[in-house]
Amino acid sequence: MDEIEEIRSKIDLVQYISETVPLKKTGRNFKACCPFHSEKTPSFIVNPERQIWKCFGCGVGGDIFKFVMEQERVEFGEALRLLAKKAGVTLKRYQPTKSESEKDKLYEINHLAAEFFHYLLINHPVGRRALNYILQRGVTKESLEQFKLGYSPASWDELQKFLVGKKKYSIFDLEKAGLVVKSDRGGFYDRFRDRLMFPLFDHRGNIVGFAGRLLDPGAKEAKYVNTPETSIYHKSELLYPLQITKEEIKKTGAAVVVEGELDAISSYQVGIKNVVAIKGSALTEFQARLLKRFTENLILSLDADAAGDMAARRGIEIADSLGFNLKVVTLEKYKDPDEAAQKDPGYFKKRLEEAENIYDFYLNSAFARFRGKTPEEKKKIGQELIPIFGKIEDEIVKNVYIKKLSQRLGVNEEAIILQIEKFFKKESKILPKPVSVNPVKTRREILEKYFLSLLFQSKKIEILKEEKDLFCLPVNLRLIKMLEDFLKENLNFSSQFFFKSLPGELKEAFDSLYLIDFGEKIEEEDWVKEEIKRLKKELKILGVKEELETVCLRLKTETDPEEEKKVQEKIKLLAQRLSELEKT
Ligand SMILES: [Zn+2]
Repeated sequence: MDEIEEIRSKIDLVQYISETVPLKKTGRNFKACCPFHSEKTPSFIVNPERQIWKCFGCGVGGDIFKFVMEQERVEFGEALRLLAKKAGVTLKRYQPTKSESEKDKLYEINHLAAEFFHYLLINHPVGRRALNYILQRGVTKESLEQFKLGYSPASWDELQKFLVGKKKYSIFDLEKAGLVVKSDRGGFYDRFRDRLMFPLFDHRGNIVGFAGRLLDPGAKEAKYVNTPETSIYHKSELLYPLQITKEEIKKTGAAVVVEGELDAISSYQVGIKNVVAIKGSALTEFQARLLKRFTENLILSLDADAAGDMAARRGIEIADSLGFNLKVVTLEKYKDPDEAAQKDPGYFKKRLEEAENIYDFYLNSAFARFRGKTPEEKKKIGQELIPIFGKIEDEIVKNVYIKKLSQRLGVNEEAIILQIEKFFKKESKILPKPVSVNPVKTRREILEKYFLSLLFQSKKIEILKEEKDLFCLPVNLRLIKMLEDFLKENLNFSSQFFFKSLPGELKEAFDSLYLIDFGEKIEEEDWVKEEIKRLKKELKILGVKEELETVCLRLKTETDPEEEKKVQEKIKLLAQRLSELEKT
């Protein structure tokens, strides 16, 4: 068995996917809302027998490797290595590609840089000032270890001396990792100087970059310097420090979302361990999807005026459309979660317990900012809230907030409903219509595929022996022919071995038969029988109709009277057969 097959045999696809996506059994398949696009009704199907999955909404699908590639956004090699590790399979034959080895090298460099910074902070006199500063800010020694905080010395080349001089990496690799910057004169200098260093881990525990924080609050430089975008660091994808807090998020069933690294560390220290920082004010779609693997509930720690922040609002909209339950916590007395956790953890925890529904937050925030007494103020509030409330998916919830808004504005509900309609009419004119990805299928394509799918899934393939004349699409005829050949050499049918016997272009067609969802009914013998009967009839009728069409076309072009008579006879016969068929 090769390594890929060994991994496949050791990790069950359904099990694997259900670790992060809530799958529901439906007949022979499992179903869920797609983890890769926004939807409210499930079109993501997993078939255990074939160990395959597909989303009929956005079209992606494949095997376990493809799933990992999509979910982790990695290339095949990385997916292979991830799964090999999980399955306990040693990859002997696999050669990483150039870009994989390159990424590995950058992880190594970052790892060594983190060790270097950490050593200087904890053990070296050069880091003493930084150490005093961070301890005085209330970060404990334990946290310094756990989050591997460090110090980058006030030098232009100390890190280079270590990584290039001692560890023999090339300066260009350091540049690729974002650790050094090319100077105008052609040399390189260390990017992070005299800063408190936060290594940024991805959720799998690789160090992908750094955030460097200024020690002297009065200095003129930027408070934070971050690793620029590199092949392994993408700011919009990072959730800090998810590699540590993901288990806690799963366990508590919610994630507290804060802005910065220190917000997260301070919260963690006081026992709010289900925390992540989004490194900015707006949650991105990637971050939301990543969080969705661990929880359905988000508590966003927002500034009281964040409702007016369009970027933050967009992030909330994204999370809402992905089906999260959203709550908001505001910390009126304190600047940020860091300060609240340091000064008054009891207050912070209490506020978290009282976190308000996102729509109440919007409502209260708008009234706090615009008062809502004069007509102009009321208009402003309407302008802010109507686009938000109009988009509420659940009609009951929507109604609740229309009521609330009408009461507080002192206007009737009709006015608000009218305004919502007006707003969305205007918006729908601007938005382009979505383009359908699937070309229209003919009735024959649909019927043949459905019938084949039913026969394979209900394991009634022996019926194909008698009924193969019902099929005429080349791909299906070829599948049936392959099946006949297979059954000549094998006593029993096994979808796995049959799949292996197929040429590449038929493999996908065969797998797609297992992704049609019959629900629980596929288990009911009677239903399957009836369905087979119905499909036989439908395909026969379709066959006659198609023949009729062709013959009728001939009639139009036929000039020889003798021939014309024959054709008319034929039409009569076919029409007769059709009516007989339809009667049965
Ligand atoms: Zn999808």
